[in-house]
Amino acid sequence: MSAPRLEIDLDKLHHNAHTLVARLGARGISVTGVTKAMMGSPEIAYTLFSAGVNTLGDSRISNIETMRLAGAAATMSLIRSPMLSQVERVVRYADISFNSEPALLRALSNEAQRLNRRHGVVLMVELGDLREGIMPGDLEQSVRELLYLPNLVLKGLGTNLACRSGVTPDERNMAELSALADTIEAKFGLSLDIVSGGNSANLAWALGCRDVGRINNLRLGEAILLGCEPLHRQSIEGLHTDAITLVAEVIESKVKPSQPWGELGQSAFGTGAPATTDTGHITQAILAIGEQDTDPQGLHPPDGIKILGASSDHLIVNTGSCYQPVGSEVRFRPNYSAMVRAMTSPYVEKVMVERG
Ligand SMILES: *Cc1c(COP(=O)(O)O)cnc(C)c1O
Repeated sequence: MSAPRLEIDLDKLHHNAHTLVARLGARGISVTGVTKAMMGSPEIAYTLFSAGVNTLGDSRISNIETMRLAGAAATMSLIRSPMLSQVERVVRYADISFNSEPALLRALSNEAQRLNRRHGVVLMVELGDLREGIMPGDLEQSVRELLYLPNLVLKGLGTNLACRSGVTPDERNMAELSALADTIEAKFGLSLDIVSGGNSANLAWALGCRDVGRINNLRLGEAILLGCEPLHRQSIEGLHTDAITLVAEVIESKVKPSQPWGELGQSAFGTGAPATTDTGHITQAILAIGEQDTDPQGLHPPDGIKILGASSDHLIVNTGSCYQPVGSEVRFRPNYSAMVRAMTSPYVEKVMVERG
């Protein structure tokens, strides 16, 4: 097999998705499987769907198109606000999109009329993280405008926390979303199918709180893919944290001094040489992977191996007492950032592992 490569264990992803669907289902919460880190992989879409995830969410319409054209049967939700320049693709390929701008809603309505389709809308509400969302005081007016627009269907409300500013989902902001859902239903005499409380950062709240209120959906990416929650990056009990592995190959392995010599300026990525203390001679190996393939800062090496530095195409490690000959492979656990970059790098092969 060639390197570098991402090995994606579909059985472990299935287990993670299935476990979360069951745990949240017991609390009346459905799971939207977020595929945006997976470039529209049909195998992963199918794995999540077969684990009981009926709706898939992606931030990019191109990924949704890829999954659709591969025959994915799930409901498809565009979870990043659509671009005005892409409304035709959005109406054609997504069943639902998340929105916060009146101009987009008007364009989606026009396009849906032209294509003779109905398009579902989840209105996003700002609850403090300062990313996307309508300010709560403006929500009624937005709903009123939306209800006048032909061929759009108000599916529900959503919010997103813990992404831009790290605002933690808690009893207070979740209760506010529930109250907004109640108010909108009473005011307009309608019923909202979806009240989507957030992402993997909502898990601690959803599984630990006394009352989930009106929240009946979460959108989960990281928890399924990496088995951990994004607030403190703790692993989630009962989930696999090693479903996704990044494998790189050794191209040089030598005993070298731990400290550089000569006069020092900037290194390739602008930082100076790391200020490690002189530990004499070390066993240094170079792996054929770098900034062009992944986020080297986000790689977790196996025990006994330490990452020393990286440039575009080289990752330098101290192999300690585990000598790594040229041609051998080292396996890393990527964090979200390292995983996304590896997944979207054309230089990294993707290998789906399945035992059946
Ligand atoms: C990325 C994203 C998610 C999923 O986030 P995870 O932390 O990976 O679970 C959910 N909702 C929106 C709007 C997103 O952009």
